[in-house]
Amino acid sequence: MTLTVSVLGATGSIGRSTADLLDQHRDRFRVGAVAGGRDAQALARVARELNAEFAAIADADAGPALRDALAGSGIACGAGPSAVIEAATRDADLVVAAVSGAAGLSPTCAAIRQGRTVALANKESLVCAGDAFMRDAKKFGARILPMDSEHNALEQSIGTGRIDEITRMTITASGGPFRTATRERIAAASAADAAAHPTWSMGMKINIDSATMMNKGLELIEAHHLFGIEAERLDAVVHPQSIVHALVTWRDGSVTAGLYVPDMRVPIAHCLGLGERLTIARGKPLDLAATGSLTFERPDEERFPCLRIAKAALAAGAAQPTVMNAANEIAVAAFIAGTIGFYDIAALVERACEHFAARFSTAPADVEEALAIDAEVRSWSEAALAA
Ligand code: NDP
Ligand code: MG
Repeated sequence: MTLTVSVLGATGSIGRSTADLLDQHRDRFRVGAVAGGRDAQALARVARELNAEFAAIADADAGPALRDALAGSGIACGAGPSAVIEAATRDADLVVAAVSGAAGLSPTCAAIRQGRTVALANKESLVCAGDAFMRDAKKFGARILPMDSEHNALEQSIGTGRIDEITRMTITASGGPFRTATRERIAAASAADAAAHPTWSMGMKINIDSATMMNKGLELIEAHHLFGIEAERLDAVVHPQSIVHALVTWRDGSVTAGLYVPDMRVPIAHCLGLGERLTIARGKPLDLAATGSLTFERPDEERFPCLRIAKAALAAGAAQPTVMNAANEIAVAAFIAGTIGFYDIAALVERACEHFAARFSTAPADVEEALAIDAEVRSWSEAALAA
């Protein structure tokens, strides 16, 4: 049987790894829709490579370029946010949600409201509107498959076990490029320094989030929603080799863990397989003897305050994760643009969380409300940075 797969964020880091696997297993998959943000040429290339039925680009101005680039291919296309929603809601057995940032919220939500099976890479959607997302998934009968490496490893480590028998879920962090750097050195870091990730090859935004360790904070919140587990049973540990991605501790003291080489194609293949294991051509097998040692350390929340801030947002609940995520996106964009320093990211996020704590004192009731909060916090953050 051929499965139809749509890929949102098809030109990004996760999108390209997904495309590689879809290409390797052409007998198994047909590609429904692909969607991208602005780069019409890259989107047309992936649409042609995968012989997609439909290509959507979020930037309405890029529509003519996409149409030209797809001329003669027989691939239908559209531009603007509504075209991306069309890509998300077209008939498909699996929708890969790999748009970066809060821009992924609406299309991911639209796929969920169609009751689709969604392989979720876009962690910001759960951080921004986790309760609403999980409620919608239940209401519309959608399945969410965790594609983020740690959550995929958690899912595999849980297997058929019961969540109430788990005493702790631990996700690992590589520690990023500044794991051993002094605070002074980190404070002076440029976006290029921060983007030099030691173990993973990823998009720019998540690279910076890894350097600040906000990524681990986002992932703790993501785990909380995906597995319905409270903050007290969640934990993050630094593991520089990025081989063990997550560990589940059971009440009898047993620990099950998810291990694999740091290649996102492994968790992506696990999602695409829908219960069957896919082979990965050109995949490197895990060789523990060659790795030599696996080491673990506690994260340093002094040098990496974003992790502390994210844990506090998770514990506080309400709209704090939504506020935190929006302020973080603005701060990371400013850091990439070179207008603020590394520790200004944490400072802005913390200020935003304090500023909005009283104003947004309940969790967003739905994705629309989450997006409204997101928009308000973004404008406040931009104004705060400009002041
Ligand atoms: P990238 O920045 O590499 O890619 C983002 C993709 O989203 C691009 O295809 C981009 O297109 C597209 N896009 C941007 N805005 C829109 C929009 N409004 N509508 C449709 N498409 C849009 O990001 P990554 O692949 O690194 O990450 C994607 C998500 O997966 C993030 O949420 C990240 O946190 C998560 N993730 C990533 C991992 C990784 O290894 N990279 C690991 C685990 C999770 P364009 O370039 O044209 O703008
Ligand atoms: Mg991850």
